[in-house]
Amino acid sequence: RKVENQSMIEAHKLAANFYSHLLLNTEEGEKALSYLEQRGFLREHIEKYGIGWSLDDREVLSQLLQRKKFDMKEMEQAGLCIMKNDGTGYFDRFRGRIMFPLHDDSGNVVAFSGRIIKDSKDEAKYLNSPETPIFEKGRLLYNFHNARLNVRKTGKVILFEGFMDTIAAERAGIMNSVAVMGTSLSDTHLTKLKRIANQLIICCDGDNAGWEAARRFAILADQKGLDAQIALLPEKIDPDDYISTYGGEAFATKIIGSPHSYMSFTLAYYKRSKNLSHENDVLQYIHEVMEELASKVSPVERDLLIRQLNAETGISAEALKEQHTKII
Ligand code: ATP
Ligand code: MN
Ligand code: MN
Ligand code: MN
Repeated sequence: RKVENQSMIEAHKLAANFYSHLLLNTEEGEKALSYLEQRGFLREHIEKYGIGWSLDDREVLSQLLQRKKFDMKEMEQAGLCIMKNDGTGYFDRFRGRIMFPLHDDSGNVVAFSGRIIKDSKDEAKYLNSPETPIFEKGRLLYNFHNARLNVRKTGKVILFEGFMDTIAAERAGIMNSVAVMGTSLSDTHLTKLKRIANQLIICCDGDNAGWEAARRFAILADQKGLDAQIALLPEKIDPDDYISTYGGEAFATKIIGSPHSYMSFTLAYYKRSKNLSHENDVLQYIHEVMEELASKVSPVERDLLIRQLNAETGISAEALKEQHTKII
């Protein structure tokens, strides 16, 4: 890494320590700490992931950085501070948020994601650092530096869409998970994963965005030559919710321990919006599934597919086979 970025990294380290201190040791941090505890965070995980709290105060961090003689223009570039409109100084980018440090592959803090405590319509739930010389969203995988060794050992990596899920997964004993920062997975992400794993378990939220993301991720992973499976969650539930509601053991065995093949996922994907007691839905379902899978499945999978569609829809295996042949 370039030397000129060194002070940005030092500033992030200082900021992370400051935020962590505010969360753990001050009265102002108590509200945030009890929010985290209510959500099931363990103290050891709060410490391990370096979670903190940024005060409502407009400029505490800026003042601290100034006192420590950081170049404030650079601190603005680093995404920690913002210049005041009248140019007379700087205020903090993050205020009144729970702070999640984002680490690079060497474990340096290079950015933050800040979450509000009370969900509201007026304010974004998460505020992230902007792209900077030390932080590229399309490159960073949350928890990569911690998970790397476990991933190498098992050859397997679990991919979530949010870092909250990675932290929660640790309560389920899952130490080989990473998360993207939202719903986009880049080729760089996949290259990094492929270097250390051959098996990928994709586990996205049980909402529309999550199902779409899972499908995209699975296709991309397959193109990259990774063996991808998809772990599915009940509707409207994300991994973190599941673990809080049903416990880590259930998550590890029923969800992560029973992932779906791409074929089985595809069936579930197209079935999700349909009612198979309606004739139109049945026809559309078969059409979509066949279109998607016909050219991809092996003879054995084809047999499985036809048996499953027959069981689900009551359409005869002969008719299904004929349809399948017509498509390829
Ligand atoms: P929580 O459980 O606290 O609601 P989550 O991880 O379930 O958090 P999601 O809404 O599922 O949050 O979003 C997943 C990821 O997408 C987040 O970790 C974050 O990186 C990104 N994200 C979500 N909302 C925003 C936002 N408003 N601005 C920026 N990034 C966001
Ligand atoms: Mn989501
Ligand atoms: Mn979520
Ligand atoms: Mn969540």
